[in-house]
Amino acid sequence: MDINIVKAAEILQSARYAIALTGAGISTESGIPDFRSRGGLWEKYDPAEYATIQAFCSDPEKVWRMLFDMSEITRNARPNPGHRALAELEKLGVLKHVITQNIDNLHQEAGSKSVIEYHGNASRLECLSCGEQYQREQFAAALLGERTPPRCGKCNEILKPSVIFFGETIPPDALARSQEAAQKADAVLVVGTSAVVYPAAGIPLIAKQNNAAIIECNTEHTGLTGYATDIFILGMAGTTLPELLRQIQSS
Ligand code: NAD
Repeated sequence: MDINIVKAAEILQSARYAIALTGAGISTESGIPDFRSRGGLWEKYDPAEYATIQAFCSDPEKVWRMLFDMSEITRNARPNPGHRALAELEKLGVLKHVITQNIDNLHQEAGSKSVIEYHGNASRLECLSCGEQYQREQFAAALLGERTPPRCGKCNEILKPSVIFFGETIPPDALARSQEAAQKADAVLVVGTSAVVYPAAGIPLIAKQNNAAIIECNTEHTGLTGYATDIFILGMAGTTLPELLRQIQSS
């Protein structure tokens, strides 16, 4: 057993208010590439060109070409053992919330109940014109078969996934809830995030100012490691998080 997993388990078990912050890395083992991985979606579509709100407003059909390809990748994605371990840690009372930068709904599907969706959720669609909201599955045929951008039933505008594009602000409720959680936290489990996209990357730092312990699980060092991180667990989250869970369950 990795000594860092043993130490992390001790910290989480004695924590009064532990939270998790997750990023794209926790879903790579579910088949969804992160921004940094070689190959895949993000080499075909530069996020700076396709994932900005300006790009969507000026040419939504172009952005939907990327979104259709993304739908192909995400439609068969299922939670992996990393997502399930975090859900179990919440059930055990060890974790209070999962704050996720992911938009793939996999924490919720794994059984996590208190999920703060920092960057929204692609399973919902919204009309920028009238504010009407839709469930993505209402447009399943258009999204997967015909590849026609879904339109608002009220004003016929092309709908946008309810996710935060670059250039948009974080949903106020998610921002307020995560800041409050970060201020209360005495331990933060940071999983699969390069910690470069702000303000999400600031969440562990808010907690650290209040002397929270920062436990990082990643396949490589990040901007947080050696700066804010107290315990670094090296490896794939789909392996290390179930090990951490087992260590907590057995002690
Ligand atoms: P990122 O792509 O910048 O970084 C991913 C991090 O995860 C890297 O540090 C990498 O080393 C690590 N990683 C990769 N596979 C791992 C694994 N199996 N186990 C542990 N660590 C692993 O991701 P980010 O920091 O979340 O920032 C990217 C932004 O892109 C976020 O805002 C997010 O909303 C968005 N995004 C979301 C998804 C998704 O919903 N699944 C996918 C791609 C991008």
